[in-house]
Amino acid sequence: MIEKTRFIPDGKKELKKLPIINYTDSKYLYYPVTSSRCADGETCVRGGQFVKVGEVIGTRKGAFFEQPMHATVSGEVVGTEKHMDQSGKSVDCLIVKNDFKYELHKTIKDRTDEEINALTKEDFVSIVREKSLVGLGGSAFPTYIKLSTKDKIDVVVANGVECEPNLISDYALMLTNPKAIIEGLIYAMKASGAKKGIIAIKKKYKEIDERLSFELREYSDYDIEVVKIGNFYPQGWEILTIKNALGIKIPQGELLSKYGVLNFNVSTLASIFAAVKHNLPVLERYISLSGDGITNQNFRARIGTLMTELVESVGGYKDIEIPKVLILGGPMMGVNVSQDDIVMTHTTTSLIVQNQVDLHEEPCIHCASCVYSCPVGIQPVQIMNAYKTRDKDMIKHLGINKCIECGLCSFVCPSKIHLTETMRKAKRFASK
Ligand code: SF4
Ligand code: SF4
Repeated sequence: MIEKTRFIPDGKKELKKLPIINYTDSKYLYYPVTSSRCADGETCVRGGQFVKVGEVIGTRKGAFFEQPMHATVSGEVVGTEKHMDQSGKSVDCLIVKNDFKYELHKTIKDRTDEEINALTKEDFVSIVREKSLVGLGGSAFPTYIKLSTKDKIDVVVANGVECEPNLISDYALMLTNPKAIIEGLIYAMKASGAKKGIIAIKKKYKEIDERLSFELREYSDYDIEVVKIGNFYPQGWEILTIKNALGIKIPQGELLSKYGVLNFNVSTLASIFAAVKHNLPVLERYISLSGDGITNQNFRARIGTLMTELVESVGGYKDIEIPKVLILGGPMMGVNVSQDDIVMTHTTTSLIVQNQVDLHEEPCIHCASCVYSCPVGIQPVQIMNAYKTRDKDMIKHLGINKCIECGLCSFVCPSKIHLTETMRKAKRFASK
């Protein structure tokens, strides 16, 4: 039987009920010197030096993606150590010993409304570049590149759809600090010249709709609207968000700006607000621990915190006799990792700890459910077959580059075939 699946369990209900713990206990903070986009990097501080919150401590290097590294606590630089970053790679990290004073660096000063009103597009671009802002929804794409577009922009979309299960980071932010999102959206509209702003959220989030709509009453001078879109997966993928929120169909692979649209995750917009208003880099973010192998908990923690500490703070893993599966990110698009010695970076939103169950792959029954469920219209089963024979031309011909690694094909497969993992491997193989 062909099954077309777009509705998946979102795993957020219980997490949304939990409080958010402000985790401030880290004695040491770790700052990766490289990132997935910056293969090289260097620090500009030495052992024994005292640094303050927001101070530049180095540079991650990688052409357009080059970005300064910032301290997120005040304290002493005490060396380097290897830990895993968001991609699951072991990387060099600069260590700062927290003095728990959280002293701000002298450059961290608020801008007045008059100063902000006088900012040009170039000023906005330069501020977000200096503060190393990247897409906080997971892409880590540099915000300054999006904002510096020369295309005429009609509308800026604040994407609060967050369709990946088990993630509540954007949800928590929209509920607790909608003002920062709205102000960030206004700055993005000013910088890009857009007259209209849209905040796209899931239809079922009535409480978020009420919160944002209430806050927006203070901003009646701006044309900003909350638009509610469907609850299916992967509705938060920008192509679908824009299609369903604005009715604009953008072919995959084309720049949104060519169609007069810019799309930012809501957390990214809040970071634009903090950078422009307070001259701050991203210092902290919301993160969740979930899954049946751990006590579930939400945190607000400083960038540079080790995930191991968060795990320990909830009492470690449950049922330690049962092996665990760890997923960094959500269950659909996250990456499997072998341990929790991971540094929280800008895009770390969740660690899922599951008790391992035996899920043996069965042979393909040719049901075509993966084909009918794929949101980009490619044929995962055919790509898998082409990858098995290492037929690079066929893999490319079947459009592997369109795959957004959403995880739906694996989710829907009745034979429990790890299709998404095969798509990732096939993509890498085809690009060699
Ligand atoms: S992971 Fe790729 S192939 Fe599988 S459903 Fe998503 S987009 Fe399609
Ligand atoms: S790979 Fe799975 S979902 Fe796709 S056709 Fe085969 S059995 Fe069906």
